[in-house]
Order: sequence, then structure tokens, then C-alpha cells
Amino acid sequence: MPSEASIGVKAAVIREKSGEFHIEDLCLETPRRDEVLVRIAGVGVCHTDLVCRDQYFPVPLPCVFGHEGSGIVESVGESVTKVKPGDRVVLSYLSCGECEPCLEHSPGYCHELYGCNFAATRRDASTTLRKGSEVIHGNFFNQSSFATHALATEKNTVKVPDDVPLDLLGPLGCGVQTGAGAVMNSLNPRPGMSIAIFGCGSVGLAAVMAAKVAGCSQIIAVDPNASRLELARELGATHAIDPTQGDPIEGIHQIRPTGVHYTLECTGIPEVLRQAVDSLTLTGVCGLIGVSPVGTECAIDMNSIMFGRSLRGIIEGDSVPDVFIPRLVELYKQGRFPFDKLITFYKLEDINKAVEHTEQGKVIKAVLRP
Ligand SMILES: [Zn+2]
Ligand SMILES: [Zn+2]
Repeated sequence: MPSEASIGVKAAVIREKSGEFHIEDLCLETPRRDEVLVRIAGVGVCHTDLVCRDQYFPVPLPCVFGHEGSGIVESVGESVTKVKPGDRVVLSYLSCGECEPCLEHSPGYCHELYGCNFAATRRDASTTLRKGSEVIHGNFFNQSSFATHALATEKNTVKVPDDVPLDLLGPLGCGVQTGAGAVMNSLNPRPGMSIAIFGCGSVGLAAVMAAKVAGCSQIIAVDPNASRLELARELGATHAIDPTQGDPIEGIHQIRPTGVHYTLECTGIPEVLRQAVDSLTLTGVCGLIGVSPVGTECAIDMNSIMFGRSLRGIIEGDSVPDVFIPRLVELYKQGRFPFDKLITFYKLEDINKAVEHTEQGKVIKAVLRP
């Protein structure tokens, strides 16, 4: 095996299913031709990191997770032209760029999406991290950014401007772009239309902000957590419904008797998906973005779909990261997309505390700073 040049990094390693994160000193390879080495400024904790820790998807262990990184480019491979050392970047998901959906500008539906993001190796199956002679899996979402440094490729690296706080921006690479994109790209409501958002974590609250940007006249937030409903109102929700205090479908029909034009399911719970479909007006569209274990089923009344309603799944907010992330940054600068209100910072060493607070619902979006 050729011995590649490497640098010393610190990273949070998961060694066993559902185990704790361990901060360890590792060696990370320096960039190959199309790769970019990024010194991480901030990295968001996303639900997907935790379900992979729990092996909902069989990501090989030991592994460094983290897929909402932002930072400064430290070095680049010889073929990289998009960014140069010193540039500020957000790291997003990887797509192959060659399959039919990629060629039709829908990289979220890339046929190689799993291999590109969950194999925890390069696409040629080589690995990038080790501890002595032990292989540690990296390349999670082509970055593994729960670390001081991450190795990405040009393709999933998005350049961002210098005049925004860099450590805030990582969540734009996954959770925030998913919620905002589901509204602004996928559902695309016209001004004056109505939307109900089920689940007000970081994805749902990003959707609330996007619905305000889109000019929706009724933005209904549905969540059992009172403090999240309060934040949803602050961010643009016109109505808030606590589903433990009564049937949310009835609550939505009290606000708009014929139902709402759009709903967004952000919880991954089958009963909530059913409620989201049943809250639609005729010809309304329900977007599904909540992740559930493989094999999860949901009963839908066929007649409710018959009358022009539809239900569609949405990955990464149908966004092309190079196009959409700079748009969100611009809206943030204008004060119209204050996603910083979702974020609580932790030190990378405190990752276990950040994860605990996330799982307890105490914080909406934890961002780790190395
Ligand atoms: Zn593809
Ligand atoms: Zn994510």
C-alpha cells in the first residue's frame, strides 16, 4: 500500500453502536488531486449523525461522523479550481455528478447518494483516517467534520463570503438547507398561500423562516414543545398548535376551513405524516422530510389522495448546494433568514454533552467548535 502524506488531527470517534464519542488523535491524509483540506470552524450536529451512530444505516465503525462542517481551506489537490487556500467554505453532501438525476440538476436523488455519503470511504474504497495502523472510517458525507480538519472534494465544497460568521454556517450544508429548500425549491408556494409545518426542530424552523420569505399568509407550526412553538412564532409562524392539546387536523381546519395548500412532515412519525396529508386542501401537496427506519409504513386514506392531493419525499431540500447555500447566506445578511437563532455553540470536546442536550430537546441545533 502506498504511504500517503498525512497530518495530525483531533476527531470525535464512534467505536461501537450507540456508544459515546471519544476525542482521539488521528492521522488524516493530505489532499489527492480533486480533494480539499479544510480547517473546521464549526460543525452542526444533525439527526443523521445520531441515527448512523445507532446503525439505522450500516456505516462501518470505528467512524468519524459530522456532515455540516464549515471552515477555511488549508490546502487543495492539483486539479482543484473552485477554491484555494484561505477561502471560507461550507461542506455539503456529495453526489456523483454523472447519473441521470445529477445530470438533470437533482443531485439529492443521485443514484450513488448512499455510496457517496454513507460508505465512509472514498469512492475508490480507500480510507483517509488512521490511528497508528488502525483504519478509522472517514469520508462520512465526504467530510467527517466532527474534527479539527476534514478532507472533502471540490464537488461538495461551497465557497461562502468573508463577511458572515464562519462558525455559524455549517448547518446550511444539511439540516437548514433541507428545511428551507423543501419550501423554497420543492413546494414553492406563491405569496398568500398557506402551509403547516409538523415538527419544529432545526429543519422545521428553517422551513418556517423560508415560508415567511416566500410570503405565505398562514404559517402554522405544529409541535408539542412550547418553547419551540414560541421560537416558531418569533421566526414567522402566524399560528402555533400543540398536538397534545387537541387534534391538529381540527386546529388547522379552524384556521383555514378547507385545509392548507402545503404541509411539511419533519418528524418521521407515521401518525404525523397521516395528519399532514389529512390537513391539506384539495390539490394540496405534503412534503415528507422526516427520517424513519427502513420499512416504516403509513396508512393513507386513498380517497384523500384521489382528489388531487399529493405526497412527495424530499431529499436535501431539492437543493443544488453551490446555488442554494449562497442564496441562504444572502437572505441571512439581509436579516430575512435568522438561522443563527437556532444555534447553540459547544466545544468539540463537549460533543457528548451537545448530543445529550440535542436528544433531550434542550437545544435546537448544536454547533461544535474545535
Ligand atoms: Zn449522481
Ligand atoms: Zn444532516
